[in-house]
Formats: sequence, C-alpha cells, structure tokens
Amino acid sequence: MERTLVILKPCTVQRGLIGEIISRFEKKGLVLVGMKMTWLTDELLSEHYAHLKEKSFFQRVKDAMRTCPVIVCCWEGIDAVEAVRTLAGKTNGRNAAPGTIRGDYSMSVQENIVHASDSLETAKVELSRFFDPSELYEYTPSNIWSLYANDEI
Ligand code: UDP
Ligand code: MG
Repeated sequence: MERTLVILKPCTVQRGLIGEIISRFEKKGLVLVGMKMTWLTDELLSEHYAHLKEKSFFQRVKDAMRTCPVIVCCWEGIDAVEAVRTLAGKTNGRNAAPGTIRGDYSMSVQENIVHASDSLETAKVELSRFFDPSELYEYTPSNIWSLYANDEI
C-alpha cells in the first residue's frame, strides 16, 4: 500500500467544498489514514514549494496557501500516489479534464483545489513535513475485499 499527501487549498475551504472533495477520494476507494486543519507558515511553504523558488509566482503561490487554514490529509491505497494525481487532474483547472477534481471545480492555475504528491518519494517527504507519525493511523477498512482482489494486496 502507498500513502500520499493531499492538501485542500484555501480556495476549497473558502468555497465550502471540503466535504465534496473528500468524498471524491472516499468514493474512489482510497482510505483516509490522517486528516487535520492547519494554518501553514511561509517557512513551511518555502520547503513545500522549493521546486518553484526561481519562478516569478513563488511568493504569490505561497501567500495564497496561507490566506486561511487548509485541510491536510493522507490517503492510502495500492498505487495511491498515481491514483490521486490522476483524480486531481492537470495543474491548470481550465484545461484539466472533466471528471477530474480540478477539471470539475477549478478555472485557475493557482486556485486549483488540491495539492497532491507527485511521486512516492515526494509523498514520503511531504507526509513527514505535514504530519507527526502519531497522527497517521494503521487500520484495515471493513470493506477491503470489496475494494481489492485478494491477489492485489
Ligand atoms: N502554480 C501557479 N502557476 C504556475 C504553476 C504552478 O500558480 O504557472 C501553482 C499551482 O497552485 C500549483 C502549484 O503552484 O498547484 C504547484 O505547482 P506544480 O508545478 O507542483 O503543480 P501541481 O503538482 O500542483 O500540479
Ligand atoms: Mg507539484
């Protein structure tokens, strides 16, 4: 099983879409193993978006992420990193495919509803950045054999 980080961005909190977006991941069959509301700091965001630090929009993107608290969550499943990225859709909501979260809920590059880890390696680093190990739970959902065949897990 893989674990991946999703952040419901301030635009999602402000638009009252928290429940709807969480529901998309739940309905897919991903298992929620950690979730909390937190107000991000510029320092943490500088680490999180370090790959963008040379871009002209670096500060703008960081500032947008701390206009209000966000929801950080950890989702678990087989190939969860790729499954979540596929659900999220392309970065730019305007050309993200319909059926994806960004395609269905966003008209913006910046205000694009969710952050999702882009590789297993990144997911591990990001989960340890946003969660204490004690905030992530180990459990088997009771519907596990309706989610997967026994040779998949
Ligand atoms: N972003 C932006 N303008 C750009 C590229 C990215 O505002 O031209 C923002 C956008 O909110 C995006 C975030 O920076 O989600 C991180 O960018 P990345 O390239 O990692 O995209 P993602 O992995 O979120 O699809
Ligand atoms: Mg990214």
